[in-house]
Amino acid sequence: NPNPHPIRHIAVFAFPFGSHAGPLLSLVRSLSVAVAVAGEVKFSFLSTSRSNKTLFSSDEGFDNVRPYDVDDGWPEGHALSGNPVEPVEMFLRAAPGNFRKILGKAEQERGIKIWCLVSDAFFWFAGEIAGERGVPWLPLWTAGPRSLLLHLETDEIRRHLGEDQGGLCNDKTLDFLPGFKAIRISDLEGVLITSQDSESSLVVDMLHKMGLNLPKATAVLVNSFHKIDPEISNHLKTKLKKLLNIGPFTLTMKLSPQPKPFLDENGCLDWLSEHETASVVYVSFGSVVTPPPHEIAALAEALEEAGIPFLWSFRGKLEGFREEKLCNISSLKGKLVPWAPQVEVLKHSSVGAFVTHCGWNSVLESVVGGVPLICRPFFADQRLNMRTVEAVWGVGVEVDGGVMTKEGIVEALRRVFLDNEGKEMRERIAVLKKLAHEAVDAGGSYSEDFNDLVKIVTQSVGS
Ligand code: UDP
Repeated sequence: NPNPHPIRHIAVFAFPFGSHAGPLLSLVRSLSVAVAVAGEVKFSFLSTSRSNKTLFSSDEGFDNVRPYDVDDGWPEGHALSGNPVEPVEMFLRAAPGNFRKILGKAEQERGIKIWCLVSDAFFWFAGEIAGERGVPWLPLWTAGPRSLLLHLETDEIRRHLGEDQGGLCNDKTLDFLPGFKAIRISDLEGVLITSQDSESSLVVDMLHKMGLNLPKATAVLVNSFHKIDPEISNHLKTKLKKLLNIGPFTLTMKLSPQPKPFLDENGCLDWLSEHETASVVYVSFGSVVTPPPHEIAALAEALEEAGIPFLWSFRGKLEGFREEKLCNISSLKGKLVPWAPQVEVLKHSSVGAFVTHCGWNSVLESVVGGVPLICRPFFADQRLNMRTVEAVWGVGVEVDGGVMTKEGIVEALRRVFLDNEGKEMRERIAVLKKLAHEAVDAGGSYSEDFNDLVKIVTQSVGS
């Protein structure tokens, strides 16, 4: 249907925790430029005020993307317990009422009903809201394609696991699922959370409903590229109306004004340039996780013993003597910074390995940089990503025993930096890096999928 309106209004619902809303905003900004040729398009970006404040601080030049604050569900004067799930739960209790209310306000202010609804994939209810209004629903899945598939197959997997008394504490592989022969049942912990787990029941419920509702979406968008896992991507295509692989975002969504992650306030890139090719190990556990003090100490001691220069994005707290020791060690061979421009760091030729928690963005950024990974996953999809890195792609190692010990890290560093095994990982990740670049080069799969997205946004209503 050709668009009868000269002006369009697109609402965006962001999940305001972890590394979710930032990538969604990058996508929206790229999309706002791409669709501008079709007429005036207004984007209303709905997130909490905390999230919007960090995202929109340097927003010159993107006036057509306007932030709107939704209620974060925190009762006035409520002190947080420190449990990271608590703010998420309070927020989810306020949804979807908080989004509905502000969507109405945005429509009133901008003088036009929405034409399309883009949301974090977590928000299954965005599908209902889009359905009521007869407009397309475009959810963005900010993690990897493999975990997305697991959410779509949750009921099927539970049926299989039901026959297996071991539950998720089980090292059997998932042979019954195409593309999952190398994945162990225990790797699903955090993705296929069950109601008996300590995880929030609201989160469990949201993920389950998401799996049931995503097949109804007009198209599901993923920060990934087809050839990183073609079997999974093909399987997803059989489950969804449309799958659009529009990543890796660090290569495809470059239109934001320089956000914090790209600024090099701590001089990391100059420091890296003083080192030889593939000689430095980069350490970061993402924006949410802080490893326990004994693991941080073990990692520091291992780095000291191995004598490998390191760049460590460190935001933890240690007791006095450990902190002093870490600073002593880093003064010899390393650089400790509170935040690193990770995307650029991983592209730097001096970086030879990445000690990581295996968050999806980190994994994908390491692929784009061609850097082998040393994996210490903590929660959510991180174990699944670790196994994919280690056993499917063969581009990294799991820390022996699953937690960081001095011996385990020294051994992992030896395997990656000194052994032939490490050389092979480097070769294999160079192949993935090449495939990532081919996907976004002219004529690659990215432009086809992104053009499809632009078409949905500019042409159709109610499809
Ligand atoms: N990041 C960064 N500098 C740092 C630490 C993290 O730029 O010092 C960025 C990193 O590039 C990635 C994101 O923070 O894009 C972390 O996302 P990921 O999915 O890996 O983990 P999460 O933060 O969601 O646990």
